[in-house]
Amino acid sequence: MIGPEDVGGVHVKYLYHCRRQLWLYARGVRPEYLSAAVQLGEAVHETSYTRNSPIDLGAAKLDHLDGAAWVHEVKSSAKPSPGDEAQVRHYCYRLHAVGVPAEGGVLRYPKTRRTRRLPYTEQAAAQAEADIAEVLAVVAAPTSPPRQARSACRGCSYLDYCWNE
Ligand code: SF4
Repeated sequence: MIGPEDVGGVHVKYLYHCRRQLWLYARGVRPEYLSAAVQLGEAVHETSYTRNSPIDLGAAKLDHLDGAAWVHEVKSSAKPSPGDEAQVRHYCYRLHAVGVPAEGGVLRYPKTRRTRRLPYTEQAAAQAEADIAEVLAVVAAPTSPPRQARSACRGCSYLDYCWNE
């Protein structure tokens, strides 16, 4: 079972997208193959930010921290989601925990050329802490949470797992 220090950006992102996805992921269930959407995400990541090395914070691995202490993340989706915001907020939380005063997150969406800046406020810090507690509560449940409506599953790498029963 994971503890607070093991909670990473992916856990938090899945918390907001689908609790079942989070539970499966944290319990080590892996789909046989990654979905095309995940592969696209990796391709966008590789081609958009080749100059920057990812920063490893243990459970959290973020794309890039600029000289003004803003966390930069590039996304393959077309528009911002609450999960993206929660993920970058989590990275700021982790950076503050190791003494790096992150100012906030910058989410970039190359597909639609959108950029979103999210300052790291006291409220954001409190939410990041609450998110970690919520991740642990979901993962501790003895059985997997129910499926979402199928329309919400597009692009999820557990699609076959969840819907081939
Ligand atoms: S396929 Fe749907 S229900 Fe299953 S984990 Fe993914 S989003 Fe959740």
